[in-house]
Amino acid sequence: MAGMKGLRLVIFGPPGSGKGTQSKLISELYGIPHISTGDIFRDEIARGSRLGRLAEEYISKGLLVPDEVVVEMVRERLLREDCKPGFILDGFPRTLRQAEELDRILEELGWRLDAVINLVVDEEEVVRRITLRRVCSVCGAIYHLEFNPPKRPGVCDRCGGKLYQREDDTEEVVRKRLEVYRTQTEPILRYYREKGLVRDVDGNPSIEEVFEQVKAVLEEVRSGGDG
Ligand SMILES: [Zn+2]
Repeated sequence: MAGMKGLRLVIFGPPGSGKGTQSKLISELYGIPHISTGDIFRDEIARGSRLGRLAEEYISKGLLVPDEVVVEMVRERLLREDCKPGFILDGFPRTLRQAEELDRILEELGWRLDAVINLVVDEEEVVRRITLRRVCSVCGAIYHLEFNPPKRPGVCDRCGGKLYQREDDTEEVVRKRLEVYRTQTEPILRYYREKGLVRDVDGNPSIEEVFEQVKAVLEEVRSGGDG
């Protein structure tokens, strides 16, 4: 039926692309759950489920949770009632194998992906966003020296605590993470491009401007395409 298709989405974007924020905005506007693998892990572990205990074993040893376990967790999540109108997957699939498994799960449910949102951000912009981040050593408040600076340099507005730069937020680490992201994501994006699902969105402008683009893409996906 035209007009009210489900919205079954995957979102990609490098660290610092605002992927989490855009996912949340999409989730709120369209009433579909934002499903991040991090949240699923935490939830399953907190509930002490079979899969949660399995995942915990790997995580506690500093190992990657194997594809089978991740896929099974995502499958169970997608079976829940709130995913009927759609969903936005964030952090999954992370491997080509997971992407293929996702197709299998969706086929089993009689669904298919509607679009893959790919946030594209210049490397220098990501470096600027992340390396200018400062965190309060006392209350954990997050600042950005350019977008959201503290009133007094180096001091938390909320509690007066000292601000510091996290080790993960240094230029060297950021560039390394971007490199890892590219290597990891390229084959998956290629897989989805061949299926004609990828919608590149310019992630460089402000959150609001990016979201305007995302909305335009999603309206197009929802109203048209080839059903
Ligand atoms: Zn503070």
